Amino acid sequence: MKEEFDIIFVLGEIYFDHPLSGAAILKRLLEKNGYSVGIIEKPTREEEVKKIGTPRLFFAVSSGAIDSMVRNYTPLKKRRDEDQYSDYDESVPDRAVIVYCNWLRKNFKDSPLILGGTEASLRRFVHYDYWQNRLRRSILLDSRADLMVYGSGEKQILEIAKRIKEKKDLLEIKGTCLISRELPKDFILLPSEEELIPVKDDDKTIEESKQKFMQMQLQLNNYQNLAQPTGKRFILQYQSPQYTSKDLDEYYELPFSREIPKDSKHLRGFEFSVVTHRGCIGNCNFCALRMIQGDKIISRSEESILREIKNLTKLPYFKGNIDDLGGPSANMYGMDCQLCHKNCLDCNKLERNHKKLIQLLKKARQIPGIKCVYIRSGIRYDLAPHDYIKEVAEHHIYDTLRIAPEHVNQDVLRLMNKNKGNYKEFVKYFNSLKSGKKISYYFIAAHPGSSMKEAKELADAVKGLTNVSLQIFTPTPMTMSTCVYYTGIDPKNKKKVYVPYTYKEKKEQKRIVMRELN
Ligand code: SF4
Repeated sequence: MKEEFDIIFVLGEIYFDHPLSGAAILKRLLEKNGYSVGIIEKPTREEEVKKIGTPRLFFAVSSGAIDSMVRNYTPLKKRRDEDQYSDYDESVPDRAVIVYCNWLRKNFKDSPLILGGTEASLRRFVHYDYWQNRLRRSILLDSRADLMVYGSGEKQILEIAKRIKEKKDLLEIKGTCLISRELPKDFILLPSEEELIPVKDDDKTIEESKQKFMQMQLQLNNYQNLAQPTGKRFILQYQSPQYTSKDLDEYYELPFSREIPKDSKHLRGFEFSVVTHRGCIGNCNFCALRMIQGDKIISRSEESILREIKNLTKLPYFKGNIDDLGGPSANMYGMDCQLCHKNCLDCNKLERNHKKLIQLLKKARQIPGIKCVYIRSGIRYDLAPHDYIKEVAEHHIYDTLRIAPEHVNQDVLRLMNKNKGNYKEFVKYFNSLKSGKKISYYFIAAHPGSSMKEAKELADAVKGLTNVSLQIFTPTPMTMSTCVYYTGIDPKNKKKVYVPYTYKEKKEQKRIVMRELN
């Protein structure tokens, strides 16, 4: 007889039981709370979603850590053969969340469908879809799901499981979105779907809808209750729940086997990575993390991180090296502050001294059985003080130290919200330490604001550099840069912005930079 599960995850990625996997954290957490969880990985046909039967409670659907369109197409919209996600294969359909949900709806009419993950989170309201070059409505409407979880989802999924088990409704769960006939009190109204995607397509109407789109972009955040009218209904976003260090300690210390799929080249080198914190205060305009993990830092306690490392040393196949100690960026550990919703990088209350992080690094490398604690997450160089850089250069670099200046032109950097700090000063100090280690650089070509002139400026600046990674900008849904890409206007000052739209120019911007590299 088939085993029955309380919850069945349908995933657009391989499941691996490791704290680097969001699905694994949710599964382990549900199991700890008494629920059984079945997994269907990367179904390619409708038949496959039926293979472990009907869940007692609900289906949870996610494309995985990466949006299926980003996964399947290059920034120039070519299907990927092989790229930096070296586990790429062709088995995840385009718009995987919608495809999986439609298969499930057809075959399991009575089972609740709950969406989650990056692809769903970034499509919760009307959004610009680069691959179709048009605005699309909320994914809740196209998937016919009952509820969407945005963000990491631990608190939400436990509450959803409890409510469905107790046959209660799914209203008012923090960190979720749903379709409602009512507009509850105290919700901030976003422009409606009809205002954003008008039926008429004359220039005046399109211009007005772009203005509304910019207005919406400035309103988007995870910490407020938001509502978008769609016909006679509303897409409601309930504000995100508050996560604490204690929550993260619990999640990252769940009993994972830490097994990585054998054929995963991409994950193999990160088997012994330890997560120190969530969130990013950087607020880069091209990055969607703000709308997923949020723009405040939540750090794990030092004790919890050190305990996880000690437990790794007991594994028979552990060779003594921590592959990475970090989070979305390596050096925001300990910068926790939830006092307000302003930009932390502009605030003098922000704890910038890195003392907690330096202490953590020292303690981690002194644990018996540890040879090296590497930092492979990128370093936010504009935050890094000299004593931290020295510590890292002397003890924690695996191959190279990763930094992401992204561009050199001040106008482009301002449009990226990365115009603070000077990477050349950082590099100068790093090189003066004579550690024998190298820096690797990440840059973006063809971001809004970059014409051939700015691309040439970047090309001149990188002349002779080694270890450079250069990507063409991809307008992913819900980011500020994508809003500028779609509208051609900076929503913050309403000024026109040059945007390179043609593939020819995007390629050329990349080419002239690449030819200057060693
Ligand atoms: S008070 Fe400053 S550091 Fe704290 S959350 Fe607000 S902006 Fe960030």
